[in-house]
Amino acid sequence: MSEHDVVSDDDLREKNVDECVKMVSDRLYEVWEKRWDECENGRVTYEFIKNVRFAEECCMFQPSLWLGYILTGHGSLNGFLYERGLSENESCACGAECEDWKHVLVECPLYEDVRNLCEWGVTVREDGSVDVGPMLDCKERYECKRVLELYVSEEKRPEVNEEIRRFLRSGRPMPGVVGTPNC
Ligand SMILES: [Zn+2]
Repeated sequence: MSEHDVVSDDDLREKNVDECVKMVSDRLYEVWEKRWDECENGRVTYEFIKNVRFAEECCMFQPSLWLGYILTGHGSLNGFLYERGLSENESCACGAECEDWKHVLVECPLYEDVRNLCEWGVTVREDGSVDVGPMLDCKERYECKRVLELYVSEEKRPEVNEEIRRFLRSGRPMPGVVGTPNC
Protein backbone atom coordinates (compact mmCIF):
# COMPACT_ATOMS: atom_id res chain seq x y z
CA MET A 1 0.00 0.00 0.00
CA SER A 2 1.54 3.34 -1.03
CA GLU A 3 1.28 6.47 1.03
CA HIS A 4 -1.21 7.82 -1.53
CA ASP A 5 -3.63 4.93 -1.18
CA VAL A 6 -6.62 5.83 0.94
CA VAL A 7 -7.71 2.22 1.46
CA SER A 8 -5.92 -1.10 1.55
CA ASP A 9 -6.94 -4.41 0.05
CA ASP A 10 -7.74 -5.58 3.56
CA ASP A 11 -10.07 -2.62 4.07
CA LEU A 12 -12.09 -3.63 1.03
CA ARG A 13 -12.15 -7.37 1.61
CA GLU A 14 -15.63 -8.88 1.94
CA LYS A 15 -17.33 -5.59 1.10
CA ASN A 16 -19.72 -5.12 -1.78
CA VAL A 17 -19.17 -2.46 -4.46
CA ASP A 18 -21.37 0.17 -2.79
CA GLU A 19 -19.57 -0.26 0.51
CA CYS A 20 -16.21 0.02 -1.21
CA VAL A 21 -17.24 3.18 -3.03
CA LYS A 22 -18.48 4.73 0.20
CA MET A 23 -15.30 3.84 2.07
CA VAL A 24 -13.08 5.32 -0.63
CA SER A 25 -15.26 8.43 -0.79
CA ASP A 26 -15.19 8.89 2.99
CA ARG A 27 -11.43 8.46 3.14
CA LEU A 28 -10.90 10.97 0.32
CA TYR A 29 -13.06 13.49 2.13
CA GLU A 30 -10.94 12.92 5.25
CA VAL A 31 -7.76 13.64 3.27
CA TRP A 32 -9.35 16.70 1.70
CA GLU A 33 -10.62 17.96 5.09
CA LYS A 34 -7.17 17.60 6.63
CA ARG A 35 -5.59 19.54 3.77
CA TRP A 36 -8.27 22.24 4.00
CA ASP A 37 -7.74 22.54 7.77
CA GLU A 38 -3.98 22.84 7.46
CA CYS A 39 -3.26 24.72 4.24
CA GLU A 40 -2.43 28.42 4.10
CA ASN A 41 -4.52 29.37 1.07
CA GLY A 42 -8.19 30.28 1.08
CA ARG A 43 -8.26 31.24 4.75
CA VAL A 44 -11.06 33.76 4.30
CA THR A 45 -13.20 31.09 2.68
CA TYR A 46 -12.23 28.74 5.50
CA GLU A 47 -13.78 31.16 8.00
CA PHE A 48 -17.12 30.61 6.27
CA ILE A 49 -16.82 27.01 5.09
CA LYS A 50 -14.82 24.61 7.22
CA ASN A 51 -16.52 21.45 6.05
CA VAL A 52 -15.33 20.30 2.61
CA ARG A 53 -18.62 18.44 2.13
CA PHE A 54 -20.48 21.73 2.22
CA ALA A 55 -21.05 21.99 -1.54
CA GLU A 56 -22.33 18.41 -1.68
CA GLU A 57 -24.61 18.80 1.33
CA CYS A 58 -25.94 22.25 0.47
CA CYS A 59 -26.90 21.86 -3.15
CA MET A 60 -29.11 24.96 -2.93
CA PHE A 61 -25.97 27.01 -2.37
CA GLN A 62 -25.45 29.04 -5.51
CA PRO A 63 -23.40 32.06 -4.52
CA SER A 64 -23.69 35.17 -6.62
CA LEU A 65 -20.56 36.89 -7.82
CA TRP A 66 -21.01 39.43 -5.03
CA LEU A 67 -21.33 36.82 -2.34
CA GLY A 68 -18.26 35.14 -3.79
CA TYR A 69 -16.30 38.31 -3.12
CA ILE A 70 -16.96 38.21 0.57
CA LEU A 71 -16.53 34.44 0.83
CA THR A 72 -13.08 34.71 -0.71
CA GLY A 73 -12.01 38.15 0.53
CA HIS A 74 -11.58 39.15 -3.11
CA GLY A 75 -13.49 41.77 -5.01
CA SER A 76 -13.61 45.50 -5.15
CA LEU A 77 -12.30 46.22 -1.68
CA ASN A 78 -9.37 48.56 -1.43
CA GLY A 79 -7.46 46.17 0.82
CA PHE A 80 -7.59 43.58 -1.97
CA LEU A 81 -7.16 46.02 -4.88
CA TYR A 82 -4.18 47.74 -3.27
CA GLU A 83 -2.29 44.44 -2.96
CA ARG A 84 -2.67 44.03 -6.72
CA GLY A 85 -1.78 47.57 -7.69
CA LEU A 86 -5.36 48.43 -8.63
CA SER A 87 -5.88 51.04 -5.93
CA GLU A 88 -3.65 53.83 -4.65
CA ASN A 89 -4.35 52.99 -1.02
CA GLU A 90 -6.04 50.35 1.09
CA SER A 91 -8.12 52.69 3.22
CA CYS A 92 -11.88 52.70 3.44
CA ALA A 93 -14.02 55.69 2.51
CA CYS A 94 -15.08 55.89 6.17
CA GLY A 95 -11.48 56.64 7.15
CA ALA A 96 -10.55 53.20 8.44
CA GLU A 97 -7.00 52.08 7.66
CA CYS A 98 -7.87 49.00 5.63
CA GLU A 99 -11.02 48.18 3.75
CA ASP A 100 -11.20 44.40 3.89
CA TRP A 101 -14.11 41.96 4.00
CA LYS A 102 -14.22 41.88 7.79
CA HIS A 103 -14.25 45.64 8.12
CA VAL A 104 -17.10 45.98 5.64
CA LEU A 105 -19.07 43.09 7.06
CA VAL A 106 -19.05 44.05 10.73
CA GLU A 107 -17.49 47.46 11.31
CA CYS A 108 -17.82 50.02 8.55
CA PRO A 109 -20.36 52.75 9.38
CA LEU A 110 -21.09 53.19 5.67
CA TYR A 111 -22.93 49.85 5.67
CA GLU A 112 -24.77 50.38 8.94
CA ASP A 113 -28.10 50.77 7.12
CA VAL A 114 -27.94 47.34 5.46
CA ARG A 115 -26.10 45.40 8.15
CA ASN A 116 -28.01 42.87 10.22
CA LEU A 117 -25.45 40.59 11.84
CA CYS A 118 -28.00 38.75 13.96
CA GLU A 119 -30.09 37.85 10.91
CA TRP A 120 -27.00 36.87 8.93
CA GLY A 121 -25.70 34.60 11.69
CA VAL A 122 -22.53 36.64 12.23
CA THR A 123 -21.12 37.14 15.72
CA VAL A 124 -18.33 39.46 16.80
CA ARG A 125 -16.48 37.83 19.67
CA GLU A 126 -15.16 39.77 22.68
CA ASP A 127 -11.62 39.65 21.30
CA GLY A 128 -12.79 41.31 18.08
CA SER A 129 -12.60 38.19 15.92
CA VAL A 130 -15.63 37.30 13.84
CA ASP A 131 -17.59 34.05 13.75
CA VAL A 132 -19.17 33.74 10.32
CA GLY A 133 -19.63 29.96 10.48
CA PRO A 134 -23.45 30.05 10.73
CA MET A 135 -23.71 32.56 7.90
CA LEU A 136 -24.26 29.85 5.29
CA ASP A 137 -26.53 27.65 7.38
CA CYS A 138 -29.60 28.55 5.39
CA LYS A 139 -30.51 30.22 2.17
CA GLU A 140 -32.17 33.16 3.88
CA ARG A 141 -28.81 34.23 5.19
CA TYR A 142 -27.32 34.51 1.75
CA GLU A 143 -28.94 37.90 1.68
CA CYS A 144 -25.71 39.28 3.02
CA LYS A 145 -25.00 39.65 -0.67
CA ARG A 146 -26.88 42.93 -0.35
CA VAL A 147 -23.78 44.29 1.33
CA LEU A 148 -21.67 43.11 -1.57
CA GLU A 149 -23.86 44.77 -4.12
CA LEU A 150 -23.18 47.97 -2.29
CA TYR A 151 -19.45 47.45 -2.53
CA VAL A 152 -19.51 48.76 -6.04
CA SER A 153 -22.40 51.13 -5.74
CA GLU A 154 -21.66 54.75 -6.40
CA GLU A 155 -23.60 55.68 -3.32
CA LYS A 156 -21.30 53.76 -1.00
CA ARG A 157 -18.00 53.81 -2.81
CA PRO A 158 -17.75 56.77 -5.14
CA GLU A 159 -13.98 56.39 -5.28
CA VAL A 160 -14.14 53.07 -7.15
CA ASN A 161 -13.39 54.04 -10.68
CA GLU A 162 -15.68 53.17 -13.54
CA GLU A 163 -13.20 50.81 -15.15
CA ILE A 164 -13.00 48.58 -12.10
CA ARG A 165 -16.75 48.77 -11.64
CA ARG A 166 -17.32 47.62 -15.22
CA PHE A 167 -14.84 44.82 -14.71
CA LEU A 168 -16.58 43.61 -11.59
CA ARG A 169 -20.00 43.70 -13.22
CA SER A 170 -18.73 41.67 -16.16
CA GLY A 171 -18.30 38.69 -13.84
CA ARG A 172 -14.82 37.97 -15.20
CA PRO A 173 -12.08 37.15 -12.69
CA MET A 174 -10.05 40.05 -11.41
CA PRO A 175 -6.35 40.13 -12.32
CA GLY A 176 -4.48 38.07 -9.76
CA VAL A 177 -7.58 36.09 -8.78
CA VAL A 178 -7.50 32.42 -9.61
CA GLY A 179 -11.07 31.36 -8.98
CA THR A 180 -12.00 29.74 -5.71
CA PRO A 181 -9.04 29.30 -3.42
CA ASN A 182 -7.97 25.75 -2.88
CA CYS A 183 -4.92 23.92 -1.68
ZN1 LIG B 1 -15.20 51.69 6.39
